[in-house]
Amino acid sequence: MKIVCIGRNYVDHARELKNPVPSKPVFFMKPDTALIQKHNPFFYPGFSADIQYETELVLKICKNGRHIEERFAHKYYDQISVGLDLTARDLQSECKKKGLPWEIAKAFDNSAPLGEFIEISEIEDINHINFSLKINGEEVQRGNSCDMIFSFDYIISYVSQFVTLKLGDLIFTGTPAGVGPIKINDHFEAYIENQKLLDLKVK
Ligand code: MG
Repeated sequence: MKIVCIGRNYVDHARELKNPVPSKPVFFMKPDTALIQKHNPFFYPGFSADIQYETELVLKICKNGRHIEERFAHKYYDQISVGLDLTARDLQSECKKKGLPWEIAKAFDNSAPLGEFIEISEIEDINHINFSLKINGEEVQRGNSCDMIFSFDYIISYVSQFVTLKLGDLIFTGTPAGVGPIKINDHFEAYIENQKLLDLKVK
C-alpha cells in the first residue's frame, strides 16, 4: 500500500506558503509506515522543531488501474476520510532551498494520521464536501472540495499516468489555507461535514 499526496491543490494555501499556483498537480509519496490509525497518539519526533498539520480529504482506491481516463476515474475510489499530512516544515524549507527531495520532511514514521472512512455513496455532492480541523476544541482549519484546483478525478487520472494505483492505496488531496504548528499535548479532531472521523493526541 502506498500513500500519494497532492501538494498545492488550493490557491489560498499555495499563497500562504508563497508558492506559485501550479498548472499540473504536484505529488509526492509517503510509505505505509507513515500511517496512524485507530486513535493511536503521535509522538513528537526529535528531528524537527516545527511539525505542522495540513488537513486533507483522503480517497481510498478500490480497484487497480493505470492510465485511467478522467471520465472513468470515479470508478476507482469508493471511500473518503480526512487525514493530516504532517510536515516537518523546518526540514522541508531546507530541502526546498537546496532543491532536494522532501522525504525527510514528509515521509517520516507516523506522518499520516488518518480518520475512519465513509462510503462515497453516502456523500451528497463530492464537489462540495466541507471538512475541518479542531485543535483543543477550537476550529483552526476549514476547507471545501469545491476550492480544489485539481478535482479528485483529474488527480487520479494524472497520477496513474506515472504510477499504477492499486487497491487500498490512499490519495491525500491537498490542504486549504490555515496550516500551523502542532504542540505536545494538542488534541486534534477532524471532520467531514459534522461527522468526526479523526481523533489524535500529540505526546
Ligand atoms: Mg499536504
